[in-house]
Amino acid sequence: MNVDERYAQGAEGLRDDVTRFLADLIERPSLSRDENAVVQRIGEEMKAVGFDDVVVDGFGSVIGRIGDGPVHIVFDSHIDVVNTGDPSLWRTEPFTATIENGVLYGRGASDNKAAIASMVHGGALLRRLGIDTSRFTLWVVGTVQEEDCDGLALEYLLTNTIPKAEIVVLGEATNLQVYRGHRGRAEFALHTTGRAAHASAPERGVNAIYRMAPIVEQIEALNERLASDPFLGKGTVVVSKIDAQTPSLNAVPDGCTIYLDRRLTIGETVESARAELEALPSVQEGAATVELLTYEGRAYTGLTLSTDKYFRTWVTPEDHHGVRAAVETSERALGMTPQIGRWVFSTNGVSSAGKLEIPTIGFGPANEVYAHSVDDQCPVDHLPLAAAWYAAFPERYVAAAGAR
Ligand SMILES: [Zn+2]
Repeated sequence: MNVDERYAQGAEGLRDDVTRFLADLIERPSLSRDENAVVQRIGEEMKAVGFDDVVVDGFGSVIGRIGDGPVHIVFDSHIDVVNTGDPSLWRTEPFTATIENGVLYGRGASDNKAAIASMVHGGALLRRLGIDTSRFTLWVVGTVQEEDCDGLALEYLLTNTIPKAEIVVLGEATNLQVYRGHRGRAEFALHTTGRAAHASAPERGVNAIYRMAPIVEQIEALNERLASDPFLGKGTVVVSKIDAQTPSLNAVPDGCTIYLDRRLTIGETVESARAELEALPSVQEGAATVELLTYEGRAYTGLTLSTDKYFRTWVTPEDHHGVRAAVETSERALGMTPQIGRWVFSTNGVSSAGKLEIPTIGFGPANEVYAHSVDDQCPVDHLPLAAAWYAAFPERYVAAAGAR
């Protein structure tokens, strides 16, 4: 293995800086649509460590640039976090970075603030090592609102600010391995209608909940027979919520709605998923309607973007030069051969790869099992290692793309 010691050694020298920066980010809570304070802090750090340019786009994502060569490489981490849930279930203060036995705890540590901290300092290291930036432009972006609507902010940014991106590296937690895809998803609502009547005489009405009941059962059974893929796994469907519309608790309800989380494996699309639902005998007998939900997100900047809640399945082929460059980067900068895997959850790759068809891969610190959990954490050792990887990737990518 051809290890270049400069990366690991250089990154070790910035261990304290990147750790302190991550602690600062955790101490700025940044729930979705309220990311302004963390955006300002990231922008300051980018300027301090020598990025050539830092801007905030109309939707509120922060964008730092290094170099101005022809190959546009984008490193993306989202910078919003989910809420804490019941804080009493946490061992540590959720919005205070706490280090115990070499592990840093706090909301957003694994998802996804360790990544943006490492990416910014990876850029700093790249500069400090004097790497020739004439052949690439490195964009490090911290995107907003990913937890509410994956892909929306990155799509806006890749359409408006960085339209020539050739490769996107997502920092979502991979435990320092290389990932190359995940299942897509769609959110549907199904509605049944009935006729309200006094609950003392149910025979006078039509109960919308009873019309929905066999639909719920058939959706549970549908989950068992959905398609599977050897790499991405099986498509799934979950009834995640049920609502009824009724004149009173002493009435026959005249409306019922269920909400579905549908995960889509290879070969499944929003159209195929909708057709499967509409073909269920209970949906036809109950005259249920199937609706694809939409998302409308008002950013802290005031800009509102909206989208259908359909997030495409994506996989970058294992033999793609971006994946090859990622493996070579791990070998050269970290002295290890990574496993090639995929995420269980969904990421901003639904827009970069799924919608815009820009080759996308993943490399990030922390283990995805801690995302959204009360044990949200990242090993401190991951921070300099990830920074070394991010510093080394652009050069490896340009070499692999040139040899293609
Ligand atoms: Zn995430």
